[in-house]
Amino acid sequence: MDNKEKGKNNKKNKSFIMSIAVLVIIIVVLAGIAIYYISKNQNKDDKTLAYTDLIKEMSYGNIEKIEMSVGSTSVKVKMKDVEEEKKSIVPNTEAFIELVQQKVSEGNDIELIQKPKGALTQISTTLFSLLPTIIMLALFVMIFKMQGLGEKGQVYEDTERKTKIRFKDVAGLDEEKEELIEIVDFLKRPEKFTKMGAKIPKGVLLYGKPGTGKTLIAKAIAGEADVPFISMSGSEFIEMFAGLGASRVRKLFDKARKLAPCIVFIDEIDAIGARRASNSGAETENNQTLNQLLVEMDGFSSEETIIVLAATNRPEMLDKALLRPGRFDRQITIPTPDLKGRLDILKIHSKDKRLSEDVNLESIAEDTAGFTGAELANILNEAAIIATINKHDDIENSDIEEAVKKVTVGLEKHSRVYSEKDKKLTAYHEAGHAVVSKYLPTQTDVKEVSIIPRGVAGGYTMYKSDEDKYYISKTEMKEKLIALLGGRAAEKLVLDDISTGASNDIEVATKIAREMVTKYGMSDALGPIDFQGKEQNDMFVFGENIGDKIGTEVKILIDEAYNDAQKLLIEHRDKLDIIAQILLEREKINEQEFKRIFE
Ligand code: ADP
Ligand code: MG
Ligand code: ZN
Repeated sequence: MDNKEKGKNNKKNKSFIMSIAVLVIIIVVLAGIAIYYISKNQNKDDKTLAYTDLIKEMSYGNIEKIEMSVGSTSVKVKMKDVEEEKKSIVPNTEAFIELVQQKVSEGNDIELIQKPKGALTQISTTLFSLLPTIIMLALFVMIFKMQGLGEKGQVYEDTERKTKIRFKDVAGLDEEKEELIEIVDFLKRPEKFTKMGAKIPKGVLLYGKPGTGKTLIAKAIAGEADVPFISMSGSEFIEMFAGLGASRVRKLFDKARKLAPCIVFIDEIDAIGARRASNSGAETENNQTLNQLLVEMDGFSSEETIIVLAATNRPEMLDKALLRPGRFDRQITIPTPDLKGRLDILKIHSKDKRLSEDVNLESIAEDTAGFTGAELANILNEAAIIATINKHDDIENSDIEEAVKKVTVGLEKHSRVYSEKDKKLTAYHEAGHAVVSKYLPTQTDVKEVSIIPRGVAGGYTMYKSDEDKYYISKTEMKEKLIALLGGRAAEKLVLDDISTGASNDIEVATKIAREMVTKYGMSDALGPIDFQGKEQNDMFVFGENIGDKIGTEVKILIDEAYNDAQKLLIEHRDKLDIIAQILLEREKINEQEFKRIFE
């Protein structure tokens, strides 16, 4: 190391120590403030009134006076026969004021006082709201120094290379590819389009679940057009501090201009392009990044042959400004693959693997409805590992089936020691699921029942997968609940005791029942109303005991399903016993054996 560089390092060290000192001071100040507030709020328990209690007392007519300050959610409450004033926190002040006024108009004698903000509180709230900004600034200066950004001006790394990926490497997605071929054409021969006066989209947004191949198809476009692929992920921006996100965007596009024609790929764009809602510190920063992105996209002319592709799995989160003409004005949904798509993906990813003759990719594709391309690729990789462990010469069908199960339910654990009692309980629990589903017309056939523990589950009942469905009927959902509760019902029926083994079933069943009532409008008592809407506060929109009604309806659905499950099991007790017995002896029953029992 020569002297000049040493000097530079010394300087860096000094500013580093300085930054640490600043950080320590900030932390001490923050801790002080926190302690002050905590001690101020101590012994508040006897003086605070829960919001729900406040509402209750109000409807009993026990409230004499309510005092509010503008801009504060904290209110002072004077109750009729209590000397001391109490404090309460009101979640939505406007709605609360309306509620009080309504009570007053109903003849309730409540005095509502609305005070302007006190000067002191005004100063302190201003200071408080400034605090994050001050801290952000301090941190920014620190990071800036630590990274030596001032001198070098280079903090990001992005990937820029020609990819070898082509459309033929992307399975399925034929229509999507057809739409995107136009962009390949444009990148290859822009003059052809501009001569015509055609406007080519600057930005294309790819919507789709993780692992559906968005990155892959973006790379394939670059590959087909033989242009550089510059990529960056939105989540990289949110880790950065004030201003850096925006400067990274600027640098990204500077680079793109140098390399044009090229593709700029922004993964997880929702991380920067989230809807501009509030004005908290972090969001302001994101907005700067977003604004810079918009500026860059508006900045380059359509002759510059830069195509910006962006991917997200949360389109509803995106700021509308991103979707305006001249920006991401084209949107393409990348779906999870259908049967043929899954088969094609399996074929592509098994090309470089040694598959045995007995492997039936069609049936694997049938069993994997809902799987993404990434999951299917993962399954084949797992299968290769399992085949190696099993010392097979090549990958056998059983290896792939094992891999499917590993990805869906977790790995079999042969070594877990099981007490006889546990084993019996698990056998009846799983037999319960299987028998009940057999008698439910809408439920798919049982594929395998096992009491060999897998992942966290003590045993499992696997069903044949449904071929890609769009709608699920109420009957089907109700029967799903019955199948889910079949395990618990069998435990109760046979052993007259219940276990924790059903906790996951109960969790899933409750979620389904709740959604039936609050999301799909399947409860007669409550009707087709969306009670899950994010912006509305149920209590104010639908009245305060709406929560009770929802709870009652959910409970009715679950109770009915549990009773139906028990009825089915009592009726078919012989089958339940046979299956549990086989499970105790052999730990597993496959599809054919299972069917034979019912013939
Ligand atoms: P996303 O960007 O949508 O999250 P990726 O493009 O990163 O998904 O996909 C991850 C991997 O999954 C790919 O590298 C590829 O191996 C596999 N894959 C996903 N979809 C497909 C597909 N349609 N055809 C072939 N392979 C796919
Ligand atoms: Mg991706
Ligand atoms: Zn279960």
